Amino acid sequence: MNRAQLTTTQRGYGSTWQRLRLQILQRDRWRCTCGAYADTVDHVIPLAEGGAPYDPQNLKAACRHCNYADGGRLAQRRRTAAKFGVPSRGW
Ligand SMILES: [Zn+2]
Repeated sequence: MNRAQLTTTQRGYGSTWQRLRLQILQRDRWRCTCGAYADTVDHVIPLAEGGAPYDPQNLKAACRHCNYADGGRLAQRRRTAAKFGVPSRGW
């Protein structure tokens, strides 16, 4: 993991992420670990803690509730922005 990759991720999610996200959702059959319908993808190990952004093993399908429930406030805002396609404003 190097700094360039981290910076790219922090700037926002591109088409690579969009494709990967769909793969993860399909792999997990659109089910969150809590059993609810999942339409978001969460990192098992947060990027802030050194998790790999594009490693399928570090990604899991998550319902909105669980996705918002874990992680800090800033991470939530980042993820929310990514989900709705809002460009990062330098958080
Ligand atoms: Zn859930």
